[in-house]
Amino acid sequence: MGRIPEETLQAIRDRVDLVGLVGRHVALKKAGRSFKGLCPFHHEKTPSFTVNPDRGIFHCFGCGESGNAFAFLTRIEGLSFPEAVRALASECGVPIPEAAAPRGDEAGLHERLLEANAIAQRLYRGALGSEAGERARDYLAQRGLGAAEIEQFGIGFAPEGWEELARELRRANVPAAIGERAGLLRERPSGGHYDLLRGRVTFPIQDARGRVVAFGGRALSGDQEPKYLNSPESPLFRKREAFYGLPHALEGIRRRERVVIVEGYFDRIALHRAGIEEALATCGTALSEDHGRSLLRRARLVVLLFDGDTAGRRAALRALELLLPAGLRVRAAALPPGDDPDTLLAREGAEALRAVVEQAPAGLDLAIAEAVAPGCATPEQKADALRRVVPLVAKVSDAAERTAWAQRAALATGTREADVEAAVREVARGARVDDTLVVPQGPVRASPEERHLDQLVQALLQHPACAAEIDAPSFAASIGPSASQELVLALLGACTSGASAGDLVAALEGKLGEAARSRLHALAAAPGPEYEPAQAARAVRDIVARFDKRRRQERQRAHLDEVRRAASAEEAIALIRSGSDASGVR
Ligand SMILES: [Zn+2]
Repeated sequence: MGRIPEETLQAIRDRVDLVGLVGRHVALKKAGRSFKGLCPFHHEKTPSFTVNPDRGIFHCFGCGESGNAFAFLTRIEGLSFPEAVRALASECGVPIPEAAAPRGDEAGLHERLLEANAIAQRLYRGALGSEAGERARDYLAQRGLGAAEIEQFGIGFAPEGWEELARELRRANVPAAIGERAGLLRERPSGGHYDLLRGRVTFPIQDARGRVVAFGGRALSGDQEPKYLNSPESPLFRKREAFYGLPHALEGIRRRERVVIVEGYFDRIALHRAGIEEALATCGTALSEDHGRSLLRRARLVVLLFDGDTAGRRAALRALELLLPAGLRVRAAALPPGDDPDTLLAREGAEALRAVVEQAPAGLDLAIAEAVAPGCATPEQKADALRRVVPLVAKVSDAAERTAWAQRAALATGTREADVEAAVREVARGARVDDTLVVPQGPVRASPEERHLDQLVQALLQHPACAAEIDAPSFAASIGPSASQELVLALLGACTSGASAGDLVAALEGKLGEAARSRLHALAAAPGPEYEPAQAARAVRDIVARFDKRRRQERQRAHLDEVRRAASAEEAIALIRSGSDASGVR
């Protein structure tokens, strides 16, 4: 595969919507000309992740991750650089030159697995509409799904034959090993491959960009075991972080600033039919901490909507334990016993299902109600109830909120507030010790010199023409070697060679070492001061003058030391005479 030409990279950079791209993973809020959100690359509760769309740069002031749209995609999706480039190129409609397109084996593993899934999706969709799909169509109709939902969620049918998909992949030159790695095929002990999901209704599981990464398969006949069969884990599909219904929910989550969590594919679609778009389903697993982190980056509020039976309530409580410490607010909707969202919708309609979601009580209220349900009359019962509630209350990350919940638990169990609060504090203290281990150090406080250099970089990034005010070699000498010096010199070079403000960051990236590049990203992404051209020129002059003065003072100091060490009065006088010329002292 040939190299991707610089013009192509430039065309993609110019067109790509970085805020939209990052926004699929992180809820971003405008802050000046930048956007801020919770970093997807480290665990944090207050936003230090910054995106600057004008410069096409993101930077995290917590963990230091930074870069452009390509870097974001390689890191968040684990793509190679060419894969990220091709993915963004196809998204923003920039053609990749023939010579740089991958041939056969050269495509990355991600792309090949995605291709296999896309082929499977086409086959399954076609089969659902065919004669062979009649039973599957009947089944979906009986579950209340219309043509619109089937189309929108891409529901299909994996044909009964053992090798239909294997054949289809072969026809498209996709090796069986890739089909197997994607979780679509399974190897027979006797050799050859068979279709894993054959004879099942298929639910494509998509990533935030709408590409199929896995499938969930629902059995059609009673003798098919298990009832639900999901694709196994693959480089595209990690159950601990995957959600079903993600691309359809992104807009709704942004608008409503909340996520409704359900347990099944039909439940997810039931919420869609009830007009609740901000819903996600886990894919055959319980909620994990990874799910929690990904939810927190998208919204502060999570509504759990689990089945109205004991298993459903227990799942809700477990989810609460995971989501509260992540810093999320959690509500738990109580469905009538024996109901799931799908059956409630079928029996009582959209309005009833919406009401259950809107009126969901706080998750901790549910936990307290569960804990006191066996009774709270004897001291032992009170202690039992508190043992169940206190660890959950202790996980509330906001201190004032935590105290309020401790008081509520005391009231419900008939115990003294002070005792409950003390127990909660005890547990919370233990939890906070853990917390400090994962919270990264904040940015190191910069020296005054570094702050001035940062200002200089920001002024030049906005107004490259101001570089004309600076004599690069003598200025370089007055800074001294550091990442800042490297950055400033490269920037001066780029400015004087006529790069425009829009191209500066891209022009510099390849020329800098890691530390200097990270500094550049931090400064380019930061909201920072906005300079008028005249202000920028003045700032540049001031900073250069400051460094100049500092250098002269240092020379004087060095010279005085020399004079002090002089062996004789004559030598000292000679030194003073020569020095007043050399150091420019008047
Ligand atoms: Zn970070």
